[in-house]
Amino acid sequence: MPPRSAADRKIVDRASALGAQSRANVVISQRGAQRLKNGHVWVYRSDLVSADGVAPGSVVAVTDERGRSFGSALYSSSSQIAVRMISSGPVPDFPDLLRERVRQAITYRKPLVQNTDAYRVIFSEADFLPGLIVDRYNDVLSAQILTQAMDAEPVRAALLSELSEQLQPAAIAERVDAHIRDLEQLPPRAPGLLRGEKTSTIFAMNGVRFHYDAGEGQKTGAFLDQRENYAAAAQYARGEALDVFCYQGAFALHLAARCPRVTAVDSSRPALEVADRNAALNQREVEWIEANAFDLLKDYSAGRRQYDSIVLDPPAFAKTRKNLETALRGYKELNLRALKMLRPGGVLVTCSCSYHVSEEEFVQVVTEAARDARRTVRLLEKRGQAKDHPVVLSIPETGYLKCLIGLVNY
Ligand code: SAH
Repeated sequence: MPPRSAADRKIVDRASALGAQSRANVVISQRGAQRLKNGHVWVYRSDLVSADGVAPGSVVAVTDERGRSFGSALYSSSSQIAVRMISSGPVPDFPDLLRERVRQAITYRKPLVQNTDAYRVIFSEADFLPGLIVDRYNDVLSAQILTQAMDAEPVRAALLSELSEQLQPAAIAERVDAHIRDLEQLPPRAPGLLRGEKTSTIFAMNGVRFHYDAGEGQKTGAFLDQRENYAAAAQYARGEALDVFCYQGAFALHLAARCPRVTAVDSSRPALEVADRNAALNQREVEWIEANAFDLLKDYSAGRRQYDSIVLDPPAFAKTRKNLETALRGYKELNLRALKMLRPGGVLVTCSCSYHVSEEEFVQVVTEAARDARRTVRLLEKRGQAKDHPVVLSIPETGYLKCLIGLVNY
């Protein structure tokens, strides 16, 4: 039966973009096909043979040139990652599949995420929902929508309704990365609340409490991927402690439960202001210092300052493979200075969140820093990101965080 009105036609068109994937088909090269056979879920634009007439953000069937089917994917007309697989079979109703995946993501976390009301609920490809990130901060959820397909209105509606049903949050906020929307050729969008009215709350990790503010313009969110590492660091830390790149004070406040004196450094004043409020919330004393960490470590080590525990958690130095060398030099310098400042028996917690720096490369850098500092380091733990940020073995990009905990020789 033909659509009766313009409004009906619109509904039919939308449904065909999202559901009837048999009509939209992309053909991929042998190289692209090999990637999928190896268990990855991305096909780059350079590995597309044809994507004729495929609407931006639609669900597509993926085949190779011989007609072999690989299943269904979300298509982006602008990203270098043109195809992100979502199923090995047909997907007649993507919003429905999304609802199911949201439920599975929640089920996965139930036995694994403990002692916190803040964690990542959905981690994009690692939860088989490419282009979607949802974090929970107690009763406020924060969503990031990163691709054309996830930005479609029926997809957003399904997401909001499933999250509301499953987790009953007081509010759902959207974080918007203007640069990513631009790259995906999506219209600009203001960040803000999608559901409810609450923008700020208090959440807890490992018994330490934090302020959260989803308000516009504010730097929002915490580094939830470090949650298990905070607890691990607190287990070993002792004496006088220094938290370098402290942001809103998460390591420092965890260490403060064990260490009589904690100093913490960051270059961001707004982050330190929240850190100070977090200290008050937990009735802890931490000395917050606004400084460039490289300069401060240089001054402190020249002044022969010493600590019993040092945490290094810098921002990702290697944003691309191209600046790997510079990044490795940065990590080396920080670790060298920290190791020189540790008293005998001191604890070093050193992190890298650069995907482009492998665990082997990071261990190598810290090894070289120890050699130059004339310290022997015993590795107590080699850690990664918290289990609510799962790493899928066949998708290496899902793993990025390294955290080494070492004990300096007496
Ligand atoms: N350890 C924190 C996360 C750190 S994120 C936590 O677990 O919550 C990296 C931090 O480094 C940011 O807060 C940023 O403001 C800070 N930063 C970036 N460059 C810096 C520099 N040169 N000196 C000091 N801080 C810096």
